[in-house]
Amino acid sequence: MPTIDDVTAIPLRRELDERFANAQKWIDSREYCLVRVKAGEQTGWGECWGPVAGNRELVEEYVAPRLRGRDPTNVEQIHDDLVFELRSSYHSYVPASVVGGVDIALWDLRGKLRGESVASLLGGRRRDSVRAYATGHFFRDVDSFDALRAAVVEEARGHVKAGFTALKNKIGLARHTPWGREEDIELVRAIREAVGDDVTLLTDANHAYDAADARWVGRRLADLDVRFFEEPIPPEGIDQYARLNDALDVSLAAGECWAFEGEFRRAVEAGAVDYLQPDVTSAGGITSTDRVASLARSANLQAFPHVFGSAVALAASLQVLATLPGEPLLEFDRTPNPIREDLAVEPITNDRDRVPIPDRPGIGIEVDEDILAEFRVD
Ligand SMILES: [Mg+2]
Repeated sequence: MPTIDDVTAIPLRRELDERFANAQKWIDSREYCLVRVKAGEQTGWGECWGPVAGNRELVEEYVAPRLRGRDPTNVEQIHDDLVFELRSSYHSYVPASVVGGVDIALWDLRGKLRGESVASLLGGRRRDSVRAYATGHFFRDVDSFDALRAAVVEEARGHVKAGFTALKNKIGLARHTPWGREEDIELVRAIREAVGDDVTLLTDANHAYDAADARWVGRRLADLDVRFFEEPIPPEGIDQYARLNDALDVSLAAGECWAFEGEFRRAVEAGAVDYLQPDVTSAGGITSTDRVASLARSANLQAFPHVFGSAVALAASLQVLATLPGEPLLEFDRTPNPIREDLAVEPITNDRDRVPIPDRPGIGIEVDEDILAEFRVD
């Protein structure tokens, strides 16, 4: 077995034609720090969550020297060693995004070296395709609420016309727009009226609310038959989540801001949510996402991975989704994003409301080196 001889961080960036917002921020570009790990002739690809700044330096200056010479198939050992060493170096701050980027690349590499898909290495596929929900319906640069509502409704109709049977929209307008919780509910009501009762609706507040507003909004979302209310409140408020979960009929979902098994375990033990949403790039890679999925299974909860990355994150998430029990949903980002759409030689696309899961070694995609060079910003 070849040993690891190169670990490189590759920063990618592309400005968007039109900016959009969720409750946290305006998004005017998409930026990723990919991780490439080489062992002999094989290459594995991973992706860190968040901005390039910080991730790139840690991957190249801290992680790379520790990985060179190690057996790339010892993925969980390397994952655990990295978490341990980062904790001793950075104390309360363990950069899960860095661990995630490296871990995904190692799983990809392990699969390629063994000639097996990551799903196969995780215990085998339960499905060849997964039902996807269309994530979109972000806030736009418009002057009136009527214009925002019209744009969001038009987008929802477009997704249903394309075959999607589940949609997720954004709420939490008060932080970055002149509107507030009344208009948040009005957006969901307008989508419900436009698409009818048969479409599954999910709503994401990106932890915008205080406890009282979260309760007020959650009661009204239950009346609109929303399947889950995502991140109503800030991620650190586990006890507040638990009280909210008790008080509301609508199910709560969260996890994109939690990392490693410990944070998810505290949420499960508190009864914080019905749906756990680990993200392969931010929770600590495929290793952590698979461990969170096991935790969910043992607590009789569903894990629906959060996905908002490039083609690498999407492909890695699909490998985990292939293995989950029950009826998992893929978060399928529908915002325009050339890095997500063009980076893989064979792009991952939907067929109506399902996305086929590649069954090739590793995470199942081949990175297009010409496209990579085009988006690269170092
Ligand atoms: Mg979210």
